[in-house]
Amino acid sequence: MSGKKLTCLECGQVNRVPADKLGAGPKCGTCGAGLMSPKVAEVDLATLQKAARHDDVPLVVDFWAPWCGPCRQMAPQFKQAAQELSGLARLVKLNTEDHPQAGMKYGIRGIPTMAAFAGGREKARQSGAMPAANIVSWVRQSV
Ligand code: ZN
Repeated sequence: MSGKKLTCLECGQVNRVPADKLGAGPKCGTCGAGLMSPKVAEVDLATLQKAARHDDVPLVVDFWAPWCGPCRQMAPQFKQAAQELSGLARLVKLNTEDHPQAGMKYGIRGIPTMAAFAGGREKARQSGAMPAANIVSWVRQSV
């Protein structure tokens, strides 16, 4: 099988997309969600682990929680960064209050923490809120 592996961030299905179709708005074969959407998806631990391990497109996760002020402040910056990084990386959020086992699994000590995954490995991690421009350059350097 050839093509790029991409986990659907809505339903968790692993899709294969021909490399030359990545820029053509590929959709999940199971649920129809856009696979390269610049929208920030909320993921659970299972989807995060699948995407972090298998995806051929870099994945950046923002570990956050609703009670965390700096997390809420960073949310629009993260959203903007996702637009700017569209096509290069997919940006997702994981709510550590709803999914406390994810914070343990990834050893998250403080939030917000962002982790960048590429090629099945964690490439970089960054704690503390950042403006969109810094998120964009950090991701570009990391993946
Ligand atoms: Zn899907």
